[in-house]
Amino acid sequence: MEEMPVRESGIRENLRQVEANIQSACLRAGRSRNEVSLIAVSKTNPAARIREAYLLGQREFGENRVKELLEKEAQLPQDIRWHLIGHLQTNKVRAVIDKTVLIHSIDSLKLADTIDFEARKKQILVNGLLEINVAEESSKYGFYIDEISKILNRLHQYKNLKIRGLMTVAPIVSDPEQNRGVFRRLKELSIDIKCKYADNMAMNILSMGMTGDYCVAIEEGATLVRIGTGIFGTRQIGERGE
Ligand SMILES: *Cc1c(COP(=O)(O)O)cnc(C)c1O
Repeated sequence: MEEMPVRESGIRENLRQVEANIQSACLRAGRSRNEVSLIAVSKTNPAARIREAYLLGQREFGENRVKELLEKEAQLPQDIRWHLIGHLQTNKVRAVIDKTVLIHSIDSLKLADTIDFEARKKQILVNGLLEINVAEESSKYGFYIDEISKILNRLHQYKNLKIRGLMTVAPIVSDPEQNRGVFRRLKELSIDIKCKYADNMAMNILSMGMTGDYCVAIEEGATLVRIGTGIFGTRQIGERGE
């Protein structure tokens, strides 16, 4: 059943603005526009608002909670590509691995093991990113950079979980330039990993940059940007401590 849009949303104008910003960041960085994909982070927004963005051509959406992702996935068009971007508990792995195109938030070895195990039972391939806590903030999930070399050998052996790259949630800052070093560090780490494990870890994806800092992230090599408030407007309840 069709839901009616509740109010004038500005989604069209926001998407247009974000697209213009992505294009100019690509231009500044000498990158091609098609190296960067926009994920519309729809958490806390109702299905009707997601459908609005969908009707404007947006196909990649990000959710940070499994329950919300599954509820929305069930009622929205099947060609939407759902990204899981929030912390994933191992007991929810089975329910979500065949509903998402990419799990951005692999933040522990136990979680990675579980995804590989459950994917094997379902006989599917699951794509994932390692979440890196570049700035070593105690409030955040993710591996520290110096933990990574110790676990690569194991990640490398998975048959049903394919690690495609890295993701980070950069600190909340007043000036996006303050996060440039974080993004640069993530890119460097992905190059290091690719050099050591080129055969089974592609490292083609760098998921970094949010509403406040995606232009800088693109300049530093982001291939996926995750934008919520910049598209849907301010959320009722902040999901990351705003
Ligand atoms: C909420 C969220 C975003 C989007 O944040 P905005 O600042 O609204 O763009 C991106 N990534 C993750 C992991 C999030 O939880």
